[in-house]
Amino acid sequence: MTELSKLAIAAQASYLAHGNTKKTHCKWGHEFTKANTRYTKTGARKCMACRRLQNMDNYNRYAEKRRQAARRRRKEKKCLNQKQ
Ligand SMILES: [Zn+2]
Repeated sequence: MTELSKLAIAAQASYLAHGNTKKTHCKWGHEFTKANTRYTKTGARKCMACRRLQNMDNYNRYAEKRRQAARRRRKEKKCLNQKQ
């Protein structure tokens, strides 16, 4: 897990725990505007900019995993070719 997603989850947990609804900006400084805010079933606010960042973070993490897997496969193929 990256530092960013860890912090984002921690921020979310603290909102849920303390009901920090008077703040006008999220932990990362995004303003809670109508367009940028979604409400969960429990009434907690979610910053859409942070969600986007988190999604991007996940995407990048898996992209790196995919690249590593492809590299491994290429390496294994090369080894097999050398043995023959
Ligand atoms: Zn945010």
